[in-house]
Amino acid sequence: MTRTTLLPGSFRHGPVVIQSSTPIIVTIDGPAGTGKSSVARALARRLGLDFLDTGAMYRAAAAVVLDRGVNRFDEAAVAREVASADLHFDWSADPPRILAWRQPIDARIREADVEAIVSPLAALAALRRHLVQKQRVIGQQHQRLVTEGRDQGSVVFPDAPVKFYLDASPQVRASRRAEQLRGTGRPVDERTLLSEIIERDRSDSARPDGPLTCPADAERVDTSGLAFEQVVDRLEDVVRARVAAL
Ligand code: C5P
Repeated sequence: MTRTTLLPGSFRHGPVVIQSSTPIIVTIDGPAGTGKSSVARALARRLGLDFLDTGAMYRAAAAVVLDRGVNRFDEAAVAREVASADLHFDWSADPPRILAWRQPIDARIREADVEAIVSPLAALAALRRHLVQKQRVIGQQHQRLVTEGRDQGSVVFPDAPVKFYLDASPQVRASRRAEQLRGTGRPVDERTLLSEIIERDRSDSARPDGPLTCPADAERVDTSGLAFEQVVDRLEDVVRARVAAL
């Protein structure tokens, strides 16, 4: 017998039923500060899918490099040390928490020194190969997945049936980030944040491997003038329409 799941949110949409056995991968790519992670997590929850934050994997790699004193310019040494850390997620937590050497490092990966090196580190081809392969294995083990990052629709899951690219102006993204930081009591200089965001976009878009790009078959959503719930609603509508058409 096939089990079915009545998706939450059915009041707004009418009862939409999808087979709980139906594999579906939804990719969400885009630059920092578009609210991608929160949107992806909320969408996954509404649709009853798992949620993969691939940025956390690159951040975890950066934490490993820093904490083990690895030369971050030595590509082979970086890939070797990160492989030995056996990065993986504890899927029983919500959101799933990332572990290195079996220790949770989800707080460590949000610290400023990690933030400072993650983008250049993510340009290393050997590291990308390692993490892309891990992400594909996760995609096989979690076939009902919302996955977010920079290259999920373009490189990691090119056959995903639903792809999104979230965007927003650098100014909007800087002021969202400033608000987030103020909320945590950290000092904020919006002009510095803006130049960091512009530099991160440049570095993420310019690398030859897995650059930040909008796949041709992705739905592009500009979140600049939209509230969080409006973005999630829009994505949910698109996924439901695609699932209905599958
Ligand atoms: O999304 P988040 O800000 O946590 O990602 C941190 C960094 O990891 C990004 O700036 C980017 O350089 C890198 N990244 C990547 N490919 C992904 C996800 C993140 O290169 N799929």
